[in-house]
Amino acid sequence: MQGVTKLSVQTLRGVGPKLAKKLAEYGIRYVEDLLFHLPLRYQDRTRITTIAAAREGHDLVIEGEVRAADVVFRRRRSLVVRLQDGTGMITLRFFHFSAAQKDSLQNGNRLRCFGQVRRGSSGLEMYHPEYRQVGEDNAPVEENLTPIYPTTEGIGQNKWRDLCQQALTRLHGTQVKELLPENSQYAYAMSNALQYLHTPPPDAPLAELGEGNHPAQLRLALEELVAHNLSLFRLREGQRKAGAPPLPHNTEQLDVFFNSLPFTATAAQQRVLREIRADLARCIPMMRLVQGDVGSGKTLVAAGAALQAIGNGYQVAMMAPTEILAEQHWRSFSDWFEPLGISMEWLSGRSKGSRRSKALNRIANGKASLTIGTHALFQDDVAFAKLGLVIVDEQHRFGVHQRLALTHKALPEQGQPHQLIMTATPIPRTLSMVAYADLDCSVIDELPPGRATVTTVLVDNKRRDKVIQRVAAACEEGRQAFWVCTLIEESDALQVQAAQATAAELRTLLGHLRIGLVHGRMKPVDKEIVMAAFKAGELSLLVATTVIEVGVDVPNASLMVIENPERLGLAQLHQLRGRVGRGTQASHCVLLYQTPLSDNSRQRLSVLRESSDGFYIAERDLEQRGPGEVLGTRQTGLMAFRVAELPAHGHLLDEVQSLAETIRRDFPENVDLLIQRWTGSRQQFAKV
Ligand code: ADP
Ligand code: MG
Repeated sequence: MQGVTKLSVQTLRGVGPKLAKKLAEYGIRYVEDLLFHLPLRYQDRTRITTIAAAREGHDLVIEGEVRAADVVFRRRRSLVVRLQDGTGMITLRFFHFSAAQKDSLQNGNRLRCFGQVRRGSSGLEMYHPEYRQVGEDNAPVEENLTPIYPTTEGIGQNKWRDLCQQALTRLHGTQVKELLPENSQYAYAMSNALQYLHTPPPDAPLAELGEGNHPAQLRLALEELVAHNLSLFRLREGQRKAGAPPLPHNTEQLDVFFNSLPFTATAAQQRVLREIRADLARCIPMMRLVQGDVGSGKTLVAAGAALQAIGNGYQVAMMAPTEILAEQHWRSFSDWFEPLGISMEWLSGRSKGSRRSKALNRIANGKASLTIGTHALFQDDVAFAKLGLVIVDEQHRFGVHQRLALTHKALPEQGQPHQLIMTATPIPRTLSMVAYADLDCSVIDELPPGRATVTTVLVDNKRRDKVIQRVAAACEEGRQAFWVCTLIEESDALQVQAAQATAAELRTLLGHLRIGLVHGRMKPVDKEIVMAAFKAGELSLLVATTVIEVGVDVPNASLMVIENPERLGLAQLHQLRGRVGRGTQASHCVLLYQTPLSDNSRQRLSVLRESSDGFYIAERDLEQRGPGEVLGTRQTGLMAFRVAELPAHGHLLDEVQSLAETIRRDFPENVDLLIQRWTGSRQQFAKV
């Protein structure tokens, strides 16, 4: 019997069916769940600060007498209250107020206020402080720091405080079950940690708590990461149990293929391919992530894997995140596989009508050995006769669920298809240990020989003319260049406008050059025509939005200009830059920034100037932007931890792994309890 865990939230004071339903939407059903609804931050309302000691930017409690309360009409109508204590005077400003409120603020009334101190037109001010009237009798201030909870519409902070306090009272005496083995480095009893975090004493180290480095937080973060690890592991076990068709080696066909290439595979490509081929031969599904910097030649490795599956009479599905990229794969694989007599099929969002039904037919009756496409591949009406291998390119663009959806395309009696996932976003070890704990990892840590590194420079947009001249000079020499317009990522429309305007500008200035434009709002056919022309060398300059980010391969392009690089993450810039330097010519990347450039941004961008190592850059990016950004927004659901934060808690990960192993081996009964406790709800609360 675990006491608290079994009690419904409805047993708490003030929780009826309606509130219970609302809490349940967020995964809070039992009293114990409330204890794991942890504060985001704290306010110190335990002391009254004198007005003389109040400092701008701080959240403070002050107490004083009303000296004046007037409605003023400067710019906006507002209620201005002057409050005085023995040490000084401060102004309270209300932009929304009622007549009754004004009337209650009589001269001489004593108020206790809580709010942020700012500098206003009359000196120090507080806007809309929380306040209440107090007598002379020194009504007590708060005993503990005041927690601020993550919240959702309709549940106020006071409600959360009340609910969590009630839950803590219940906890008293019943104890929350300890689910980690006692020998953990971060021994801190679970109930004490929870008590502390919901009700920190007035002398609690606020800075440490703010950074998430308090031992009580580390204890919880550790357990949360362990729970996450256990749940990914279980997911993987489920897939293993389903089994997979063993696809043994067929070296002969592979030899024919490799001999037909104009180059030899790098040692890294060969090593990774060996790992994949060994996986494929087994009767448990491969779940392998191949990481390789842009240009490291992942496609070839994918081709080797595909050949092995096809040689065993199975079908292969290859999914890319964009049409452009899927089309590029289509071309590479046509070149490689058609001479070998392998039948291919294409499926994307724009496959329509009879063309689409014909494709679906060939996939369903097993005639198509390799199907290449976009996420159209995992739509409901796509069924494979005998799917043995799923290849997902640029995984960071897809969520885990999309990847899993594709594995369900195999018929149940055939087991799971093998999975090969490829990404050029190097994933720092800390992140991959957490985000991809369910995958085996291979790294292509070598570029094909003869690649020149890309020299990167930072240039002020004021010297745009010079940059344009340089582009012109390069193109006149027969080289090709990209001009990438980036804008606030979310605004596709603005990005397109910027690219159109820039293309017009460059066409005016460089009338003698053939200049193309591609952006995400163009019809796929039109995009393809422009890309093909650029690839064929018919265009010398390509103005583009970030649609060219992934995978596009034009070896003769040796110059790239990126506008507003300060708005993009380092990993994304590195990806973009990887579009040049694919041939043997010395290549250049110009980061054309807008002034003023903050010191921080300058420092960030210099990382690119100094390094061409995708892993190093990704580590820096992770430090600066956090995992949600680095993995891409679609992954953030996975990374929505309650307490744990990466990379800040990266130092816990070794212990996380060994604890998870110990628990699986010695305390298997705790696995479910841990997963339930921490990953029961995936819903995100708004940050306040
Ligand atoms: P990415 O890892 O970025 O997907 P690609 O697979 O697109 O890289 O390969 C980039 C380019 O390098 C392609 O033109 C490809 O044909 C070429 N390539 C791949 N492997 C080798 C190799 N071993 N030697 C020379 N060129 C190679
Ligand atoms: Mg690629």
